[in-house]
Amino acid sequence: MAEITLKSLAHSYSKNPATAQDYAIREMNHVWHQGGAYALLGPSGCGKSTMLNIISGLLEPSNGEVLFDGKVVNSLPPEERNIAQVFQFPVIYDTMTVYDNLAFPLRNMKTPEARVHERVMEVADVLELTPQLKRKAKNLNADEKQKVSMGRGLVRDDVSAILFDEPLTVIDPQLKWKLRRKLKEIHHRFRITMVYVTHDQLEASTFADKIAVMYEGQVVQFGTPRELFETPNHTFVGYFIGSPGMNFLDVTVRDGKVFSGEAPLLVDKRVYDGIARATSDNVKLGIRPEFIEVHQEPVEDGMAVKVEHAQDLGTYSIVYASLGGISLKARVEEDQITPVDKAWLRFPSEKIGLYVDDFRVELPHE
Ligand code: ADP
Ligand code: MG
Repeated sequence: MAEITLKSLAHSYSKNPATAQDYAIREMNHVWHQGGAYALLGPSGCGKSTMLNIISGLLEPSNGEVLFDGKVVNSLPPEERNIAQVFQFPVIYDTMTVYDNLAFPLRNMKTPEARVHERVMEVADVLELTPQLKRKAKNLNADEKQKVSMGRGLVRDDVSAILFDEPLTVIDPQLKWKLRRKLKEIHHRFRITMVYVTHDQLEASTFADKIAVMYEGQVVQFGTPRELFETPNHTFVGYFIGSPGMNFLDVTVRDGKVFSGEAPLLVDKRVYDGIARATSDNVKLGIRPEFIEVHQEPVEDGMAVKVEHAQDLGTYSIVYASLGGISLKARVEEDQITPVDKAWLRFPSEKIGLYVDDFRVELPHE
């Protein structure tokens, strides 16, 4: 097993990269600690597969180093890196039986046949492939094929890490949920470092203890699901995590007050000071729909808004409001009355995040 360090890593698929846009991975540093269950989460095209392929050695990075337990492995070919990788689409030998497919990575390592048998039976059991062991892989359905492909990644217990690249995309939703639970169980049992790539936040948070959120070729935050929710480090994390995502308001200070567009915001002095001292024009106030207080009547520090509409989601509603033309979303629990037409919103200071050039900044101390 290994700790995987990415040091000043960058990658461009183009021969003569000129601008940041030419890079699939923009210079970044990241550590996957030994034994963790991790998710790498981000939208399509942000560089997730590129990162995995660099770790496994399928791709040589343009810049920087990959280290396993502190040793640079850049020049090691994939087969010497001791990494198992499971891809989005099944990688199996069609003419072999399921048993032989699962045994292949072990036989390749000259593992004694008794041990091969033990591991194949164990993995087949976990993935519920035991009844299929004697069948030829080409006769399996798409789900079963992908399970075999995953089994091939899981069968070796001597690997440094297992990388899963959106492995459940082709799997039926019900089975998907079950397999994700299985993977978590397997992780629990063997404590192998696992990196699970997905573009689905729910999938990420049900599998991983810690999630790396990737955006435009960089890991913009590495944290627990709770940290990503409560203190997004970047506006993208705020927007991407949560449903709906965080509200972001462009803010400035004028005449001793905070404004978003023409609308004055009632926020405390620390927020005012934080905005006032920012040296960029790109300053945003972020607040989650869950943390906005919604009142039916005027309250102290409450901002009057027009309620555009409300979406009833069963156990809660999302209220879409306009604060002098600025759109806001707020969550109202089922035991609260959902306002119509008018409401007063309050932003609790401790729930406000301030973002300068899209990165979160600390609020000044009193
Ligand atoms: P993800 O897995 O997050 O969807 P990828 O790592 O596949 O993202 O892709 C990152 C960026 O690199 C995208 O802009 C993609 O178009 C580009 N890219 C990926 N593979 C290649 C390739 N083989 N040649 C050129 N560009 C590529
Ligand atoms: Mg990909």
